Amino acid sequence: MLNLTPTELERYQRQIMLPGFGLAAQQRLKSATVLVTGVGGLGGTAALYLAVAGVGRLILLRGGELRLDDMNRQILMTHDWVGQPRVIKAKETLEQINPDVQIEAVCDYVTPDNVDALVQSADIALDCAHNFGERDLLNAACVRWGKPMVEAAMNDMEAYLTTIIPGQTPCLTCLFPEKPDWDKRGFGVLGAVSGTLACLTALEAIKVLTGLGQPLLGQLLTMDLGRMDFAKRRAYHDPDCLVCGVRSTDRPPAMQHSLTVVRNLSATLSPVL
Ligand SMILES: [Zn+2]
Repeated sequence: MLNLTPTELERYQRQIMLPGFGLAAQQRLKSATVLVTGVGGLGGTAALYLAVAGVGRLILLRGGELRLDDMNRQILMTHDWVGQPRVIKAKETLEQINPDVQIEAVCDYVTPDNVDALVQSADIALDCAHNFGERDLLNAACVRWGKPMVEAAMNDMEAYLTTIIPGQTPCLTCLFPEKPDWDKRGFGVLGAVSGTLACLTALEAIKVLTGLGQPLLGQLLTMDLGRMDFAKRRAYHDPDCLVCGVRSTDRPPAMQHSLTVVRNLSATLSPVL
């Protein structure tokens, strides 16, 4: 693991002193590479908290240009950047906040051509893309290469979050075997809602990388932020999953209910922009 400089020791002092964190956890963060897809209201804000926490290297992925209607939630952006690639500005902002973090900006979406190399070069991926095509590609690549993935999505005032570790937990296809039409961009979103989910997403990645606390392994956290209702549901690990399944046929009856609950969620939740 990489050693910490005097500047880093001072910068991260308040988190190093956390019970269960310490110097070793900080060194693990410095030695880690995190891939963030869909760098927008969700992915960009998650990247901010990873950068200030001292993750050594961030790979930021997002195609397209900044729009004025992104500005109610994309806090790494500035008004004068509208019309230009988001990830370039995200890299610039994060480097100003923490010059010790290496940041690679990739102005592209998740594609079959780039996903394997991106996942292989990271220790963990944050799935913050805004459509299921990109999400499915990232999930399959993380399963293929045995890399953890934090799965975060929202729609209006609702959100969900889980952490996937291939071989240990259900994957995204286990959770949502039948894909709803989630490729729309037109749902409403408040920056404070995407930001709330983003903080929790960054926290999950920090937990997996450092061993701090207990990440949401095999659990789906569902949030209705309009009512401030939070619930944890057991996520169903499908032995017949087309991506991660082992083709077993013994499916305990008690798990069937969880499957129904999770599948029903797919009708009401969709990924953030
Ligand atoms: Zn699966």
